Amino acid sequence: MSLLSLPVATLGTPRIGPRRELKFALERYWAGKISEQQLQEDASGLRAANWARQSSAGVTIIPSNDFSLYDQVLDTSIMVGAIPEIYASKGESVSLKTYFAMARGSQCDDHDASVGQGLRGSGAPAQEMTKWFDTNYHYMVPEFHKGQAFKLCSRKPIEEYEEAKALGFQTRPVLIGPVTFLKLGKSADSSFQPLSLLDDLIPVYIEVLHELAKRGARWVQFDEPSLVLDLDEAARKSLRHAYNRLAKEGPAIKIMVASYFGALGDNLDTALSLPVSGLHVDLVRAPELLDQITADRRADFVLSLGVIDGRNVWRSNLSSLRQRLEPAIAKLGKHRVQLAPSCSLLHVPVDAELETRLDSDVKSWLAFSVQKMRELAILARALAGDQNARQALADSECAMTARRSSPKIHDANVAVRMMAIDQKMRRRASPFARRSEIQRERFGLPAFPTTTIGSFPQTTEVRNARAAHAQGSMSDEQYDRFLKEEIARAVRWQEDIGLDVLVHGEFERNDMVQYFSEQFAGFASTSNGWVQSYGSRCVRPPILFGDVVRPKPITVEWWRYAQSLTSKPMKAMLTGPVTILNWSFVRDDLPRSEVCRQLALAIRDEVRDLEDAGAAMIQIDEAALREGLPLRRSAWNEYLDWAGDCFRICSSGVSDQTQIHTHMCYSEFNDIIGAIAAMDADVISIETSRSKMELLDAFRKYRYPNQIGPGVYDIHSPRVPETSEMKELMVLAQARFRKSQLWVNPDCGLKTRKWEEVRPALANMVVAARELRAAS
Ligand code: GLN
Ligand code: ZN
Repeated sequence: MSLLSLPVATLGTPRIGPRRELKFALERYWAGKISEQQLQEDASGLRAANWARQSSAGVTIIPSNDFSLYDQVLDTSIMVGAIPEIYASKGESVSLKTYFAMARGSQCDDHDASVGQGLRGSGAPAQEMTKWFDTNYHYMVPEFHKGQAFKLCSRKPIEEYEEAKALGFQTRPVLIGPVTFLKLGKSADSSFQPLSLLDDLIPVYIEVLHELAKRGARWVQFDEPSLVLDLDEAARKSLRHAYNRLAKEGPAIKIMVASYFGALGDNLDTALSLPVSGLHVDLVRAPELLDQITADRRADFVLSLGVIDGRNVWRSNLSSLRQRLEPAIAKLGKHRVQLAPSCSLLHVPVDAELETRLDSDVKSWLAFSVQKMRELAILARALAGDQNARQALADSECAMTARRSSPKIHDANVAVRMMAIDQKMRRRASPFARRSEIQRERFGLPAFPTTTIGSFPQTTEVRNARAAHAQGSMSDEQYDRFLKEEIARAVRWQEDIGLDVLVHGEFERNDMVQYFSEQFAGFASTSNGWVQSYGSRCVRPPILFGDVVRPKPITVEWWRYAQSLTSKPMKAMLTGPVTILNWSFVRDDLPRSEVCRQLALAIRDEVRDLEDAGAAMIQIDEAALREGLPLRRSAWNEYLDWAGDCFRICSSGVSDQTQIHTHMCYSEFNDIIGAIAAMDADVISIETSRSKMELLDAFRKYRYPNQIGPGVYDIHSPRVPETSEMKELMVLAQARFRKSQLWVNPDCGLKTRKWEEVRPALANMVVAARELRAAS
């Protein structure tokens, strides 16, 4: 480290590799093409490259144990021995088979004695997976039970610390803090709180700390992002208790508690009272924290200032950051400050330099993990008084100015349209009661009309054709013909089995968001901008950089072709504005609500063009609406207000006789039912089959007035449901709704299923609907 610099930390980095090397190594291992040893060697190569990359970018506080073969929460479960019986390893250390069985499930027929009973014979399901706070990263939910015993079962943090040290890197190991870890977990017994296990868990952490200290570690990072959530007094007490015990019983090693993804709010006092050596705060999402922590109630604290956005892809304005930070640092003293991204860089792609096909202006505005590290290093030097760094600051200011004034992000027409959004644009012409009569007459559907959610199996042939077309080995005409044949076959088959409302199958779409973003102005797609979603799964979120415009119709010709093949209603299929927003990297120079309204206008154009072309039913999917909920409840209403507003803007430009459908595929509707009702879709389909229709209670209690299609077919499973099962589910639905409100459909799209599964399942579903009609 040059003398004229502040320490720079990263908290964690992308682990998948610049070209998804980890993904490919894992897949080769799972396919039996490489040995466990080879996988471990590949992983260690990636870690070495990661440490070297950080070091050469100017990072001085380099993390270790931020790497994972699958997921850092799963690693923690294994570390502390929270391994459910069915996976349990016999030997001393946990085998990789057990690890991947917890991650991915197992249908092992192998008789390996090193894995638990459940992994032999019929196999075991994977652990539950859910979203990591409000990111698109998914973690494996830890499972606890009453009387759970913990013991150190994996030395991963210690081994990776030593591995780095042998390569010459003194690292700061990262552990998920005990309170966040327990809070993320679940128990089959709902009367029992995982947090009650804290005192049994702490000794394992103490053991790890001792081992690390013995080997020369000076600092350890404890991630406690639950500090930004609504916590009750018991959770706050647990935090104080946990770190008190670590301070008293642990070795002389310094602990940096990392909070991220938001403000500390009413947990600020708790955070500032912990007997640790440092605190990391997210100053991107919570700029006000800077004043709160420099008020200096803890002169002994080292403060890690999270100033570069770890959740987005834009270059920072280093010049204005310097101005903002200088007084705070003067007050605190340089020895008490570290610079860092707001959170781990896990959530951004690796290196913007790998983007060779991006518009050069857009590229010049981007910072992926490597660029962010460099930004931190420059800022650290400038703040320490290094004059040479000032030039780089000026450069970053120039890039910002260029971006702000670029014609590529501003479209005067969009500004005019945004100004012109009025109440009329947000409301259908007539209330639902009236519309439903008009629509009933128009469509003449039977009771319990049957339909599907949109996509049909994305078979290998479909994916190969798309790839061939993208590479140029399949011409536009050939590809077009191929897709039309797929559509025609799907339509014919839907007619044969007797579905009432048909879909074209979405064969032309790579992904429900990417497909639209590729056709809107204001979006860029990357070639290598991969972000880990879970395990080996990566996504490449579109980058929304400028005003959004739909230059020409996107889905109209596909719809027209599909409708020409049948006299049954062909439901058109779109992705909603909130879902597109939530699954993209979004420009940070406008409020998200504004960006979402622009998307709503673009989709509104598509909706109206579909109606003009003759589409009588249009589905606008909002799969990610609930996912976008802020972490703090106090912020929910504001979000739900503008999200609902955007849905109404995109869907209200049609006449009463056009039926608007929407679809949502997640589970907890209780807290958002008011917002869903306010969206005023004529028909909503939701995922309910696995909940035995209990999710419908939120709708029933609310007296949800519009039509609803509760999913009766669990599309996540290859299992083909029987007619009788689906009928039973519909009987449960009928206990909660008027018959005239109900549709019959699967839980979600069928793109991940095989035709062999879909054909019998949907045929059974149609029979179920017929029998229901006959019975009522
Ligand atoms: N229409 C989309 C499909 O059928 C909906 C997917 C989703 O809700 N995730 O695939
Ligand atoms: Zn869905």
